[in-house]
Amino acid sequence: MQTVRLGRTELGVSRIGFGGIPIQRVSETEAEQVIHRAIELGVTFFDTANGYGTSEERIGRAIAGRRQDVILATKTMARDRAEAAKHLELSLRRLQTDMVDLWQFHAVNNEDDYATILGPGGAMEAAEQALRDATIRHIGLTSHSMEIAMKGVASGRFETIQFPFNYVTSEAADQLIPLAAEKDVGFIGMKPFAGGMLSDARLSIKYVLQYENVVPDPGIESVADIEGISKILDDSWEITATELEEIEEIRKEVGNRFCRRCGYCMPCPQEIRITTALNVISFARRFPRQQVLDGSIGRAAEKAKECEKCGICESRCPYMLPIREMLVENIEYYEALKQDEAKVGPID
Ligand code: SF4
Ligand code: SF4
Repeated sequence: MQTVRLGRTELGVSRIGFGGIPIQRVSETEAEQVIHRAIELGVTFFDTANGYGTSEERIGRAIAGRRQDVILATKTMARDRAEAAKHLELSLRRLQTDMVDLWQFHAVNNEDDYATILGPGGAMEAAEQALRDATIRHIGLTSHSMEIAMKGVASGRFETIQFPFNYVTSEAADQLIPLAAEKDVGFIGMKPFAGGMLSDARLSIKYVLQYENVVPDPGIESVADIEGISKILDDSWEITATELEEIEEIRKEVGNRFCRRCGYCMPCPQEIRITTALNVISFARRFPRQQVLDGSIGRAAEKAKECEKCGICESRCPYMLPIREMLVENIEYYEALKQDEAKVGPID
């Protein structure tokens, strides 16, 4: 597997990373097997988060004794110094290591969170302390908001940016990816399969590989997933004219029903968490069923039943998504999931 430089972190990471969300859904043994197989196939970059249930623990167990073979990235949703420091301690313990290679501020999607992190007593202070203590090596940012991502990259405070990137959510290609290249900020492409909406892995992977400074980190949960992806990497990456046509077709089909989780449609007068409620189907493809039902995703789906169909959200969505219709679809799916009748696919 090719290795690429992750911006000015100077970390040499595998051409494709391992997204750690879906390994929570499989058995302990399967999780271990898929991580071991990924390492055998040359994957060195593992990305998880403090908030991904058992993911850190499972990665920690699977890489015990082979820490030097992998580059570990994790994330914290904490915005203040004290809580962020606690999260880091927990991540280190779960990952069974004394150092995380890349520590990222997770899902920083609005100005308030961004300002809190960088302000006095903010989580950045915990990260800077951790750098001094050598418990982390680099600091990154993850976001679904283009404004925050652009600001973060331009600020010089973050060495990596993680942002959605696939051929449906391709907005980053216009300015964010070039800016990251210019500032030498490593770009990690989250959701190369658009949260499971893009079923042809070959097209999705080849598309993102056209961007030399983008390291995609698809969520992987089975040996078959990682073997399939590895095979795509071994073949030619060149996109043929026919594949371009296929991409255009799928873009037309999926693009106008795909929520980027940017949050521009909110706030909703009914206090519905639209970004979560519109992605129940996508979350169910990646997270354990019970976690979807019992946690914030289930709560958002329940709350979405209170939608009064005022349409305010739709007037704000830059992608002109039929939010009201999509909410209904996601609620129906959630109800089927409750009855254990929903079909879920595995890939991120
Ligand atoms: S519905 Fe539209 S505005 Fe709202 S999060 Fe999704 S893509 Fe963004
Ligand atoms: S249509 Fe529903 S979700 Fe959208 S703003 Fe109105 S109440 Fe909220």
